[in-house]
Order: sequence, then structure tokens, then C-alpha cells
Amino acid sequence: MKRQLFAPEHDAFRETVRAFLAREVLPHYAQWEKDGIVSREAWRAAGKQGLLGLAVPEEFGGGGTSDFRYATVLAEEFTRAGAPGLALGLHNDVIGPYLTGLATDEQKRRWLPGFCDGSLITAIAMTEPGAGSDLQGIRTHAEDRGDHWLLNGSKTFISNGIIADLVIVVAKTTPEGGARGLSLLVVERGAEGFERGRNLDKIGQKAQDTAELFFHDVRVPKENLLGERDGAFGHLMTNLAQERLSIAVSAIAAAEHLLEITTEYVKEREAFGRPLATKQHIRFEIAEMATECAVTRTFVDRCVEDHCDGGLDAVHASMAKWWATELQKRVADRCLQLHGGYGYMSEYPVARAFTDGRIQTIYGGTTEIMKEIIGRSLLS
Ligand SMILES: Cc1cc2nc3c(=O)[nH]c(=O)nc-3n(C[C@H](O)[C@H](O)[C@H](O)COP(=O)(O)OP(=O)(O)OC[C@H]3O[C@@H](n4cnc5c(N)ncnc54)[C@H](O)[C@@H]3O)c2cc1C
Repeated sequence: MKRQLFAPEHDAFRETVRAFLAREVLPHYAQWEKDGIVSREAWRAAGKQGLLGLAVPEEFGGGGTSDFRYATVLAEEFTRAGAPGLALGLHNDVIGPYLTGLATDEQKRRWLPGFCDGSLITAIAMTEPGAGSDLQGIRTHAEDRGDHWLLNGSKTFISNGIIADLVIVVAKTTPEGGARGLSLLVVERGAEGFERGRNLDKIGQKAQDTAELFFHDVRVPKENLLGERDGAFGHLMTNLAQERLSIAVSAIAAAEHLLEITTEYVKEREAFGRPLATKQHIRFEIAEMATECAVTRTFVDRCVEDHCDGGLDAVHASMAKWWATELQKRVADRCLQLHGGYGYMSEYPVARAFTDGRIQTIYGGTTEIMKEIIGRSLLS
């Protein structure tokens, strides 16, 4: 099926992204995986290329477009290249909307130019050792001390946790307020009492730094409150739909790419004197995955269209997220199997895609939580 989503300007942007990946990312990727972190130069290069802050107004150095199809192209190309380490999607699609949508004019002037030129790398810190799916369990808290907030607590599993210059921290500002007592505080690199823990050792996405963060009596200036005091829950709910769509977009791109690689492999690899592709079981495997990918592709593209028109709701974003990521997981497993022992070798793209992709059903809200959101909307 021919995709209807893109216009010639998106195709041109795709060429730009591919050239950027070939020039600035892929030659360094093996080193970044060894280091457990990408280079700051890569972020700078992304800024120079105009790949950061696509939705940020032009006056702050951004792309000035609300057309999510550009973000879609970016996610698809980074996924196909097997390069999730340089987390442009997290910066642009997940964190960007908090800054463009909630920041005051003064905050925008302070943060957005650096956000767009790659000198201010961002992270968002919700999860804690005792609170992941259930944000009501958050214990990190900030006390109102007049001209500043006094922040104490810890976070874990934070993407960009080591490299980030600005961290949006979800903290309790009204202890008895439950989910309605949480606020977003922006903690900047160098703040006294802000410490980074280990760069966590993951099974995949080795070039992506994921870290623990600690806050010991950090004085966060009052002017670093983002959005409404005690309003974090609402802000998170507003922005999580785009995060989930962005994950779904990369999930279906990953599944399609795995299928392409595997289709070529089974045509070339011979067993019992003939290519694997001649066996009925193998053809059925490919046929089933191709069908599931085609159906999922149609739905995800439609969600992107709806999002561009401002009409994607939390429920459909949740459907796209759990369905596409579970498909990615199944396809990765089946494609690895079809590669036999080679599929288990790290040098094969299918092996990397298997481990890199495994997180997709977990972060950004687990599959189970997505189903809760959908089920609640239908049954309450
Ligand atoms: C590589 C990586 C990057 C991450 N990046 C970030 C980041 O940048 N910022 C950030 O804040 N967090 C980040 N996270 C954290 C991630 O969002 C959480 O791990 C995720 O939300 C799940 O929380 P948890 O790990 O505490 O699992 P838990 O909430 O303890 O869940 C454990 C299991 O129980 C299930 N479960 C929980 N509640 C229910 C329920 N009500 N009904 C049915 N099943 C349920 C879950 O689905 C899961 O299968 C990252 C995690 C990883 C691994």
C-alpha cells in the first residue's frame, strides 16, 4: 500500500536526515556504544542541521512547524539506521512540548535557543525506585522556601540522565495532594546538591545514557517552576499522548525494517539444498508479519494525521503505543529466529534490533498501563 502521509517536502527532509545519519552518527556509533553515551558534538551537529526543536518557534531558533510528519520522518530514519542512542525524539517530541507549551516568556528566552542549537540537552525525570507506573508513589519533594524550592529525593532510569543540561523533575509540592500535589521543576546542570549516579548497564540501547539522579537540598529558583504549581499531573497527561505516538512511530518503523532484512536473508540463506524462502513455514511467517505490519502501519499513519490536525486523544495514542510496540517485539523475536544462530550475534542488525527494541513496551507507559487507560475509557 502506498503511504498517503507525506508530501515532497517531507521526502526532502528524509534525505537530509539520511545524510546527517551517514555523516554525523553512524561513523561514531560503535564508539558511543562502548562509551555508553553519545558525544555532545553530535547534539551540536543536529542543532546546526536544524534537527532540534522542529516545533519550537523560529524566533528561538526552532523549525516553527507543528507538522508532526517531520518528527515522524526523523524517528523512522533513526530507527532504520539502528541508532536510538542519539535521543532526538526524546528531546524534540517528549520534552519540547513542555518547554514550548508551559514555559513563561522569560524561560523560553533562557532555554529555547540552547534547546535548538544543541547546547542544552534535556531529560525528564518522573520515575523513582519506588514509583514507575504509579506516579502517585513519587516521594521526591520540594518545599516552598520563599524565593526558591528546596528539592530532595532521587530518580532512576532517566534517559539522557548523564548528558542532560536541563532536567524536568516531577516533585511533590503539596504533600497531602496525591497526584494533584505534583509540580514540574527544572533543575540545571551544576546546581549544588544535584548529583548523577551510575550510567546504568542496559541490555540494549547501549549508546543511550540512562541514569540515576539524586537531589540533596537543591535550591531550585522559583523562576524554574514549569507550568502550574501542583499542575504536573495535568501537564503530563496532556503531553504523554505525543510521547506515546512517537514511540509507536518508531515501533512500526522497526518492525518493517526487520521484516525487510529478514525477507532478504531467507531468500539468500540455503538449508537442505534450497533457499529458506522456498519452505512453506518460512513463507507463512513472512506473510503473517507483513500483514500485521501493513495493518499497523495504516493505523499509526492515521494517528499521525489526527495528531497533525490536533485530534489525537490519549486513548488512541495508547492503542497505537501498545499495539505497535508489542508487534515490534513479536516481529523482532520471529525475525531473529529466522536468522538462526546468526540472529544471536551482536554484529547482525537483527540481534541489535531485538535488544534495542525490547524497552519499547515498557517506557512511556507499559503495555499494561496502556490497556488500563483504554479499558477505563470504555468501561467507566
Ligand atoms: C531504558 C529506560 C529508559 C527510561 N527513560 C525514562 C525517562 O527518561 N524518564 C522517566 O521518568 N522514566 C524513564 N524510564 C522508566 C519507565 O518509564 C518505567 O520503567 C516504566 O514506566 C515502568 O515503571 P517501573 O519500571 O517502575 O515498573 P512497575 O510500575 O513496577 O511495573 C512492573 C510491572 O507491573 C505492571 N503493572 C504496574 N501497574 C499495573 C497495573 N495497574 N495493572 C497491571 N499491571 C501493572 C507493569 O506493566 C510492569 O509489567 C525508563 C526506563 C528504561 C528501562
